Amino acid sequence: MENFYNVLIVGTGVAGLNCALHLPAWMKVAVLCKDTPDRSDSYLAQGGICRRQGKEDFESYFNDTMRAGHCENNPDAVKIMVNSSEMIVDELVALGVDFARNPDGTLAVTREGGHSKSRICFHEDCTGKEITEKLLARVKQMDNVSIIPKTTMLDLIERGNECFGLVVMDNETRRVFPVYAEYTVLACGGIGGVFTHSTNFRLLTGDGLAVCLKHDVAVDNINYIQIHPTTLYTKNSAGRSFLISESVRGEGAVLRDKNFNRFTDELKPRDVVTAAIYKQMEKDKTDFVWLDMRPIPPEEIRAHFPSIVEKCREEGYDVFSECIPVVPAQHYFMGGIRSDLCGRTTMDRLYAVGETCCNGVHGANRLASNSLLESLLFAQRAAQTINSLHKGLNMAKARMAESSIDYGDYADPEKLLEEYKQSVIKAIKEAEHDKPHFGRT
Ligand SMILES: Cc1cc2nc3c(=O)[nH]c(=O)nc-3n(C[C@H](O)[C@H](O)[C@H](O)COP(=O)(O)OP(=O)(O)OC[C@H]3O[C@@H](n4cnc5c(N)ncnc54)[C@H](O)[C@@H]3O)c2cc1C
Repeated sequence: MENFYNVLIVGTGVAGLNCALHLPAWMKVAVLCKDTPDRSDSYLAQGGICRRQGKEDFESYFNDTMRAGHCENNPDAVKIMVNSSEMIVDELVALGVDFARNPDGTLAVTREGGHSKSRICFHEDCTGKEITEKLLARVKQMDNVSIIPKTTMLDLIERGNECFGLVVMDNETRRVFPVYAEYTVLACGGIGGVFTHSTNFRLLTGDGLAVCLKHDVAVDNINYIQIHPTTLYTKNSAGRSFLISESVRGEGAVLRDKNFNRFTDELKPRDVVTAAIYKQMEKDKTDFVWLDMRPIPPEEIRAHFPSIVEKCREEGYDVFSECIPVVPAQHYFMGGIRSDLCGRTTMDRLYAVGETCCNGVHGANRLASNSLLESLLFAQRAAQTINSLHKGLNMAKARMAESSIDYGDYADPEKLLEEYKQSVIKAIKEAEHDKPHFGRT
């Protein structure tokens, strides 16, 4: 890794990759990730990505997003996202993303909870993998962009509320060193790694949020955490919880209590269904409820949900003939580093995009399949803004900022990352105390 870049991006999920893709070819760009590039939540997305179904769908899609978000969303952000959704999906198609198609060749769409109609484009039940692989392949072809795996961001290089790059660690050699950048983009994903039960990769522990808390960069709604209603229940709860996509319910699966009776409307927004499940578990004194996929035609299950079928089979369940046990788990982070509609944070030269940021799109609760779209779109807007507002770095100032760093602080990186994790947990608890997340269960 070199010691200067025009743009330094933390994260190889869809947000980090799409930002890199939209920066001009003359900019030297590095994209870091904690492990290998495929270990991001973007790879795990199952259900799909929303696409407005023509201009006449604007109002309905806008209202669904606002309603799911308890109207705490920023309406301008939602408007931009809804109106840009066709452009984003079309760009993905141009990249070679193989979305499911109808017999006439048009894009097939499915439905998930909180949507009043079908508008979600998908690739089987592994849409995120399909999108991220195509983005990664394209970014790898760019001569100006270097993907730097197994390199952990430990801190910002900051002075006077201006960001000059990052302190990073090469995970293999454990060398800690500064990297200067004209612009730093945090695209570090969610915070599932701080929870015992989460669908997220364990390595996502909110490091971006932690360094912002440390340097007084504004954050918003950090107690706004989405619990997904349906993850596969297993007795061995260590590791990542396996998600049973909402589109399974969108296609007709139903929830059942211990006596196999239905107990809720499965297509309500996530927080509502989650609350209903917790209530039922308490009433039945069980650790899970049942999800019945048998109302979905078997050929549809095979074509649309092959990974879910396989995972359930591994756990000893045949979705074609029996119900599967499901339980809610932490899934998504609506809050985050405060960013405007171009990804700018409250610190000069520091941007935040994707799940780590809070630009107001999701309000108090994210509507299903809005996050890939939001991450891709606002990362693209950040890249365009960096390009249009570009100003060079005063290297004397940057060196001065770096010279005030005490490298002794990074002597034990694991301890530092654990402290970051604890600072995130503490900040969430304080935020919840100050302004409870009313959708939370
Ligand atoms: C199981 C599952 C299913 C989902 N299904 C859908 C869906 O169907 N539709 C939808 O729209 N959304 C879905 N989501 C949500 C969506 O996948 C994420 O919100 C989105 O992909 C986030 O993208 P991102 O680029 O912000 O972060 P991520 O894709 O999570 O990437 C984060 C990156 O940051 C890096 N990073 C973090 N900390 C550091 C550090 N300190 N140093 C260096 N690198 C670091 C990581 O290594 C990683 O590369 C799902 C999420 C999960 C977990």
